[in-house]
Amino acid sequence: MAKGVIGQSLMKITERPPVVFVRGEGSWLIDREGNRFLDFVQGWAVNCLGHCPPEIVRTISAQAQTLINASPAFYTDRMLELADKIADCSCIDRVFFANSGAEANEGAIKLARKWGALHRDGAFEIITTENAFHGRTLATMSASGKPQWEPLFEPKGSGFVKVPFNDLGAIERALNSRTVAIMLEPIQGEAGVVPASRDFLVGVRELSRRTGVLLILDEIQTGIGRTGKAFAYEHAGIEPDILTLGKGLGGGVPLAALGAKEFVCCFAPGEQGGTFNGNALLTAVGSAVLDAVMRPSFLEEVARKGDLLKNRLSDLSTRLGEGEVRGEGLLIGWVLTRADAGRVVQNAFKRGLLLNAPRQNILRFMPALNVSVDEIEKMLSILEAAMAES
Ligand SMILES: *Cc1c(COP(=O)(O)O)cnc(C)c1O
Repeated sequence: MAKGVIGQSLMKITERPPVVFVRGEGSWLIDREGNRFLDFVQGWAVNCLGHCPPEIVRTISAQAQTLINASPAFYTDRMLELADKIADCSCIDRVFFANSGAEANEGAIKLARKWGALHRDGAFEIITTENAFHGRTLATMSASGKPQWEPLFEPKGSGFVKVPFNDLGAIERALNSRTVAIMLEPIQGEAGVVPASRDFLVGVRELSRRTGVLLILDEIQTGIGRTGKAFAYEHAGIEPDILTLGKGLGGGVPLAALGAKEFVCCFAPGEQGGTFNGNALLTAVGSAVLDAVMRPSFLEEVARKGDLLKNRLSDLSTRLGEGEVRGEGLLIGWVLTRADAGRVVQNAFKRGLLLNAPRQNILRFMPALNVSVDEIEKMLSILEAAMAES
């Protein structure tokens, strides 16, 4: 078929602006006409070190000349190295590598159910929260709490019970002998950057321990330094039994991980796997990302720039009579009093700024973790102009 219209051979799954990106440099994306866009989306909090960071470029080219893929049924030096690094910097003991966040969460659901079959008399129900986002496979859609998804692709998976977010009493009431786990995001990203309160997280941890059910934290968006700590659970001083990672872990390549404490690790051979899982090329990149994020003072810098972004947005919000600025580190949401966040995103785009509106009245900011103060200031001035025009 003739290739005249942009995207005519792609399945239409979202409305994309009519530009074609060909290059990325740090906080900037460049289209084929040479226009530069300041990127505060970064592939949905994926490119944690920005576009084409030297650490990742070097790692990919060196690893590509050494070993790209062995088999998920063999050890490679890179797979072992990254698993050790994740275990060293987090509360979990073992990891299973996956290629997407949804796949890691799907694995978490399977692991919890297997553990329930072995240790909780066949308990299988997982309590999840309203407006949660856990992925787009059938099971992770079922675990998610997006109201628009309710009628889609029926029948989805069963065994998920939804409760309001930040409501400990509702979890307590939903718990029963079939419950095997509680699954949460420490900050609901897709819902519009809604943080779990510290009391809620501490309460859920205490409740799950007391009742013998597992706590699964989905840190696919919040993990790997996004909130100014390596993992968001650290802010609340708690530890999950199962932890899922994705997005920032690969810094732009498809890499995710399901992690668990030793006592939960109960997959028998053949029950879990995947052709590309733990691929040497991708795990090498994950290692380079972790080295960069865990080096001294990197996370302090993320926290400092996060505070700066939050304070400056709060000032702007006060000045313009807009709403709350919330979130942690470099995952920030701004609530607008008017329901035209999509319009602001479009106007910002015309001015060379990439932003995201997860809800009609919410803007989300998730720049590279190494974004500069100048880039933050530049973003704010374009944003203010885009707001004025909207
Ligand atoms: C992005 C995201 C997912 C899904 O990850 P994919 O890589 O898109 O499958 C799951 N949970 C959370 C919290 C996310 O932000």
